[in-house]
Amino acid sequence: MNAWTILCDFDGTISVDDVTDVLLERFSRPGWQALEEEWRSGKLSSRLCMQGQIALLDVSKEELDEQIDELRIDSAFPAFVRAAHRAGHALSIVSDGLDYAIRRILARHDLGNLPIHANHLIQTGPRSWRLESPFADKSCRVDSGTCKCVCAQKAQATRRHVMLVGDGASDFCAAEHVDFVFAKYRLNEHCRAKDIHHVSIVGFADAIDLLPALTDDREQPTISNDFNTETFPNA
Ligand SMILES: [Mg+2]
Ligand SMILES: [Zn+2]
Repeated sequence: MNAWTILCDFDGTISVDDVTDVLLERFSRPGWQALEEEWRSGKLSSRLCMQGQIALLDVSKEELDEQIDELRIDSAFPAFVRAAHRAGHALSIVSDGLDYAIRRILARHDLGNLPIHANHLIQTGPRSWRLESPFADKSCRVDSGTCKCVCAQKAQATRRHVMLVGDGASDFCAAEHVDFVFAKYRLNEHCRAKDIHHVSIVGFADAIDLLPALTDDREQPTISNDFNTETFPNA
């Protein structure tokens, strides 16, 4: 049996909405869009952008929790985790979002024990917050709060096969450092353009169906969908 390490993005991949965006839209003082613009135009790294945005939050812990508790995830994700663990794979979250929100959302689905690599949200006053980035890395090309490429490289160093599940720009770099990608949305386009081993998924219901192929190196299953045809690398 071939046990893989599965690295899974959170916002837009597991969660339906981008958690940070929802919190900023509802609770930020003015100025967060200007920071977003500076990031989009390349003047500000994503790490510094988010640090500045989180400092603009004006929200109590109760209000924050209430909002977080309304956020939904892909309903097939808990079953995907169970199937992955049953097959012997390790799964951890790699996210440029907020650890506190991710932990709270996953706990609601009895998944509060999954390892999480994300930015660290700290309450500094009744209505004020600060962001730390324990998984940032000096070598990071884009200075992300969480350098997913270093997370991927560290997972590769364990000599297990590594798979990434993701959807967007924060996953582009890591996709180049793993053995296989389950890709949604823009990550799917990126993988096609860069010729990265991947399969397109719409959600975790697809991912569950594809999981057995990871452990079976005899069949070399062909995975086809509307967008591409891919085979897994020899495990
Ligand atoms: Mg995402
Ligand atoms: Zn990086």
